[in-house]
Amino acid sequence: MKTYRIAMIPGDGIGKEVIPAGQKVLETLARSESSFQFEFENFDWGGDYFRRHGSMMPANGLDALCGKDAILFGSAGDPEIPDHITLWGLRLKICQGLDQYANVRPTRILPGIDGPLKRCRPEDLNWVIVRENTEGEYSGVGGRMHQGHPIEVATDLSLMTRAGVERILRFAFRLAQSRPRKLLTVITKSNAQRHAMVMWDEIAAQVAKEFPDVTWDKELVDAATARMVNRPASLDTIVATNLHADILSDLAAALAGSLGIAPTANINPERIYPSMFEPIHGSAFDIMGKGLANPVGTFWSVVLLLDHLGETGAAQRVMKAIEHVTANPLLHTRDLGGNATTVQVTEAVCSEIAATAKSPLTTA
Ligand code: ATP
Repeated sequence: MKTYRIAMIPGDGIGKEVIPAGQKVLETLARSESSFQFEFENFDWGGDYFRRHGSMMPANGLDALCGKDAILFGSAGDPEIPDHITLWGLRLKICQGLDQYANVRPTRILPGIDGPLKRCRPEDLNWVIVRENTEGEYSGVGGRMHQGHPIEVATDLSLMTRAGVERILRFAFRLAQSRPRKLLTVITKSNAQRHAMVMWDEIAAQVAKEFPDVTWDKELVDAATARMVNRPASLDTIVATNLHADILSDLAAALAGSLGIAPTANINPERIYPSMFEPIHGSAFDIMGKGLANPVGTFWSVVLLLDHLGETGAAQRVMKAIEHVTANPLLHTRDLGGNATTVQVTEAVCSEIAATAKSPLTTA
């Protein structure tokens, strides 16, 4: 029997509620699968760790993650710590340190979910957004000087490398090629950003030649927001820079019903380092500790994790269980207009997984 070593990093806010729920789902699944099991290790990194140690994670923390098969991550964010410290000290440190350069964000309207677009049928919105995850606007290059003086100056440099752009575009073309419609939209802003984004466009045209069976087009990021709302069915796979895709994928999640549903995979495609899976939402302090957090984004992230491990059958079982539960309005959390709690949704998904077990579940 295979043992998958999974690092659990709940982080902050509702991450502490949804990640244990995700672990319950994986444990329930493993009890009915005879070919694999999980070994979990919990890492208490995040805001509380920062208050104790002055950093979001230990200096050698990445070493502890390198031996894992995958990472399940909650969120980083704390009302007492500036956002750029929580983000750079944990999530970005892991994504960049483990070279998880492809951030993959599937979006579709799950059964039972009422999206905000009046004329959009569920089959019209089935996207995967690929976000460049290690450079661009998040390169961290820049600085401040003359702080506090009238002549204060600050810069954030968006840095794009040919190697970085090529590998993310190639990843996106390959992903588009693997999907039925073989359709890719490359998001750009080369009308205004006339250096790096022009290189981005040129590389897109070069890489496209390797994928003659993929139909592709280019769209300015501002126009893309309108197209997502007005012509959702014209999109399938979408690739964009770090910041552009960050914004577009929050819009995508909202159009699909709620930020609480959407998952993310931070992939190191070469598998030199472990990949990390997380719900798209943040720490949501307004609902923290109230049992109101929608755990579906984490469960869908678990599906992506299982797919990445090559456990596609198990991944489908979890996805079916999620869809079975979202189809029931009584099991909708508050973000979806319902009254269900995190625990109730988790129990419902776990019972559905147990109900579809091939062999009887062993007791916990
Ligand atoms: P951060 O600063 O860490 O990104 P945030 O609170 O600014 O966190 P999000 O956590 O992304 O931003 O959430 C925005 C709002 O969406 C929250 O205030 C919350 O009400 C709602 N929300 C997000 N995730 C969920 C969820 N899983 N379940 C229910 N509501 C959610």
